[in-house]
Amino acid sequence: MTATPPVPVQPPVSSSAAPSTAQSEALFERARKVTPGGVNSPVRAFRSVGGVPRFMASADGAYLTDADGTRYIDHIGSWGPMILGHNHPAIREAIVAAAQDGTSFGAPGWREVELAELVCQVTGAQKVRFVNSGTEATMSALRLARGFTGRKYTLKFRGNYHGHADALLVEAGSGLMTNAAELGAAAPSSAGVPDEYARLTLVSEYNDAGALDALMAERGHEIAAVIFEPVVGNAGVLLPTPAFLLALHRVREHGTLLIADEVMTGFRLSPSGATGRLGLTPDLSCWGKIIGGGLPVGAYGGRAEIMDYVSPEGPVYQAGTLSGNPLAMSAGLATLRALQADPGLYERLDTYTARLAEGLREAAQEAGVTVCINVIGSMLTVFFQAGPVKNYTEAARSDTAAFAVWFQGLLKRGVYWAPSQYESIFISGAHGETELQATLAAARDAFGEVRAAGAQANAAQNGIAENQPTENVEVSG
Ligand SMILES: *Cc1c(COP(=O)(O)O)cnc(C)c1O
Repeated sequence: MTATPPVPVQPPVSSSAAPSTAQSEALFERARKVTPGGVNSPVRAFRSVGGVPRFMASADGAYLTDADGTRYIDHIGSWGPMILGHNHPAIREAIVAAAQDGTSFGAPGWREVELAELVCQVTGAQKVRFVNSGTEATMSALRLARGFTGRKYTLKFRGNYHGHADALLVEAGSGLMTNAAELGAAAPSSAGVPDEYARLTLVSEYNDAGALDALMAERGHEIAAVIFEPVVGNAGVLLPTPAFLLALHRVREHGTLLIADEVMTGFRLSPSGATGRLGLTPDLSCWGKIIGGGLPVGAYGGRAEIMDYVSPEGPVYQAGTLSGNPLAMSAGLATLRALQADPGLYERLDTYTARLAEGLREAAQEAGVTVCINVIGSMLTVFFQAGPVKNYTEAARSDTAAFAVWFQGLLKRGVYWAPSQYESIFISGAHGETELQATLAAARDAFGEVRAAGAQANAAQNGIAENQPTENVEVSG
C-alpha cells in the first residue's frame, strides 16, 4: 500500500452536491447554548465522526427526514425501539386512543395489566414491573438482586452497557466507548461515580469463560448478581460463544442471580429475546426500547419468588410517578401485538440483514477495504479491521478514522448509519428491497472513499503529499 500514489477523494456519485444542512446547523448552534453539547444523549452529537448532527423533523417507515428536508434511509430505528418502522399506523392509533382517555392517572389502569400479561406470556417471566427507561430497569434489577441475596457485589463485563446508573458506569460500552479518549479508559467510566461505588462492581472479559469461572470461584459467595448483554450491541455487535453461555449458567451454583439485560435484544432477536434464541434461562431480565414502541418504557421481571421482594410486596423499594403511563403502555401493547400477529417478521428481518451483511462484505472487498462484519438477527456492526471481534479489547482495535470516512460517505448519499464504530444498527420491518439496494450502492461508493482516504493518509505519512487535505475524523473536544 505504501507505494500507492495519492488518489483524490472521489466526489459523491450523485450529480447533485451534498444536501444543505443549514437548518441543522442553526438548530445545533441554538441547542449548544442551552443543552450540554447540544444533545440529550451523547452519541447523537456526532463527536466521533465529525460534522453537524442532523436534527430530525419527521420519521416514516424506513425513513427519517431532517430539518432541511433531506430524507435518509434510517438504520438506527431510534437505537432499537422501531422494529416495525416509524409511524406505524397501529402504534400511532393506539397512542391517539390512549391520549383521548387522559395522559396520566397516578393510579393503576388496564393497559399496564395487559402489557404485563403479554410480556410474561412471551418471555416466560412470572412477574414484571414497569419503569420509564432501560437505565431504571437495570438499576432496579440490581437493587432487587442485592435485596434478595443479601450480598453487595455485582459483576459485569467489559464493554457491556447497562444504562447510566452509578454502579453500572464501570468499564461500560456504547457512548462511553465512543468517548473513551475523552473520559480515560480506567474504571469508573464517568466523572462523578465514586471509586467506592465502582468497587462494588467487579468486571470480567466478555466471552472469557475461564476468567468468569475463576472470579466466581474466588468471590461468588459475595456476588449478588451477574448482569450481561446476552448479545452485545453496545461495543458493536458481539456474539457470545457457547462456552461463555455455559459459564454464565454456572454462576447460579454460587447462589448468584443471573440478570439478562435484554433492553436492546428483547423482542428483537426473537419474541423471547436473545436468551430465548440462545436457550439461556436467566433469573431476572431487563427490557426497554421495543417494549415501549418508541415511548419511554423499561421493565424488569423474572421469577415470582424474586419479584415479590419488590415494594409494596417486599422490602426492596422502587417507585415511579409516571411508571405504567397509559400512552407509553399503549405504544408497547400495539408493538408487541403487531409482532405477535406477524410471526414471519423475525425471519424476514434475519434474511434482510444477512443479505445486507453479504452485500457489504462484497462491496468492501471490491474496494480493497478490510472489514469484519458481526451480524445476528436484525443487528449488525461493520468493524473496520480484519477481526475476529469477540470482546471489547478486540473491538477497540478498529480503525475509527476509516469508519468516520465511511459514515460520512453514507450520510451524504442519504443513508443514516449509527454515528459510532461501537454501535449496532437496527433493521425494521419497513426495510425492503429498494432500501437494501440503495444502501448497498451508497456503501460501495463510501468504501471507495475509505480506500482513497487510506491511500492518501499513507502517502502523507510517507511525505509524498504533505499538503493533500484529509478528512477531519478526529474526536473533537
Ligand atoms: C439502551 C440500553 C440500556 C439503557 O436504556 P435507556 O432506556 O437508554 O436508559 C441498557 N442496557 C442496554 C443493553 C441497552 O442497549
